[in-house]
Amino acid sequence: MLAPPKAFVVGHPIAHSRSPLIHGHWLATHGLAGGYERIDVAPDSFAGFLRGFAEAGFVGGNVTIPHKEAAFRLVDHLTPRARRIGAVNTLSLDGDGRLHGDNTDAPGFIAHLDASLGADWPASTGTAAGRTAVILGAGGAARAIVVGLLDRGLSRILVANRTAERAGALRDLDPERVASVEWEALPAHLAAAGLLVNTTSLGMGSGPPLVLDLSPLPAGAAVADAVYVPLETPLLAAARARGLAAVDGLGMLLHQAVPGFARWFGVTPQVTPELRALVVADIEERR
Ligand code: NAP
Repeated sequence: MLAPPKAFVVGHPIAHSRSPLIHGHWLATHGLAGGYERIDVAPDSFAGFLRGFAEAGFVGGNVTIPHKEAAFRLVDHLTPRARRIGAVNTLSLDGDGRLHGDNTDAPGFIAHLDASLGADWPASTGTAAGRTAVILGAGGAARAIVVGLLDRGLSRILVANRTAERAGALRDLDPERVASVEWEALPAHLAAAGLLVNTTSLGMGSGPPLVLDLSPLPAGAAVADAVYVPLETPLLAAARARGLAAVDGLGMLLHQAVPGFARWFGVTPQVTPELRALVVADIEERR
């Protein structure tokens, strides 16, 4: 008899990962006999782990910090979006045992934005600002989010980052639509933007908050944060206080998990209020 499929999340450290909670909920909801495990693998053992997980009975898994770039280099096949983003967060095997790498952070971010703002955004704003986004930060999350927004058809994406060269490097994704801007010039750029996204780690946990005046943003603009601990970051609280739509980072985490589950277990799961409540409770409990 064939053993039930099992998947993993691999990182270092890994105890913080909420992926087992998400996939465990979906396995239970769909009555599937499968498994999902946390695996701690140090960087110097990661290549060996990739070569050996199929033999250990795994059909694939998620990859998190610090292995996303190493997975990008080591897989046999990359999806086009993983190639553009330069990092892999979802692994699967094909029938010939070849290792496939995808990056689901981009569609995860967009799926949550669509669910939060309505699928007709940004067209619903009807202005040029509606098709312009300002992105704060230029790390891994920023690259995935810029790819997602490009694919969603935004016409202008302006990236501001503490280290300006990193923001400039994102232009290679689409030099016609992506530009780097100075942090100091943000007020003028916000005045002409329909979406602001924080992808820096500012606002996370007990670290320093993101201090930014949101008053230049047009009425009808939306503010999204990739940070999800705390769920309501000071940035999102400021957006709500101004009457702007606020989109939290948890939805991105939940939606990015969907394609992997579908690939490993053969059922496309839903991001439901029950799943969200489960993860919110876990965030509150561990704070
Ligand atoms: P990363 O690659 O390390 O990038 C960190 C970014 O934050 C860089 O742009 C960095 O600027 C900026 N930054 C850090 N400290 C700063 C400070 N004191 N002042 C100004 N900028 C600062 O990290 P990442 O993987 O992109 O993750 C970034 C955030 O997104 C984290 O909070 C992470 O939890 C979150 N995230 C969420 C999801 C989700 O599913 N919701 C997915 C991925 C990531 P420099 O370039 O100048 O260092």
